Amino acid sequence: MDYGIKEPKAKGCNVENACYNLGICAERTAISKAVSEGFRDFKAIAIASDLREQFISPCGGCRQFMREFGASWDVYLSKPDGSYMEMTVEELLPESFGPEDLKMKREHSIPKDSVLTVISQS
Ligand SMILES: [Zn+2]
Repeated sequence: MDYGIKEPKAKGCNVENACYNLGICAERTAISKAVSEGFRDFKAIAIASDLREQFISPCGGCRQFMREFGASWDVYLSKPDGSYMEMTVEELLPESFGPEDLKMKREHSIPKDSVLTVISQS
């Protein structure tokens, strides 16, 4: 995993919150920091944790967040002993969609006067 980078462009950590769903993972923190500093073209991200038995793996939200910046960049999943697995974003999130999919032509347009119908059963 040598990209000739002496220091990572951005580092992140989990930012936890008492209201759990407001927390943010280290991956998204690092990517957000990098983007805020003008970087959008990523070659790799390395993920570390204190898990001994398995390689740390990004959550589904982080996988989709990474996908926003491409599918072919590398993700290194590591263990504290220094061993690691190399995967791409595509391998972690197959059949994904990204920003380019938002530009695809649509078969049908949604009528402006359409109404959302909710059906419930009791
Ligand atoms: Zn995550």
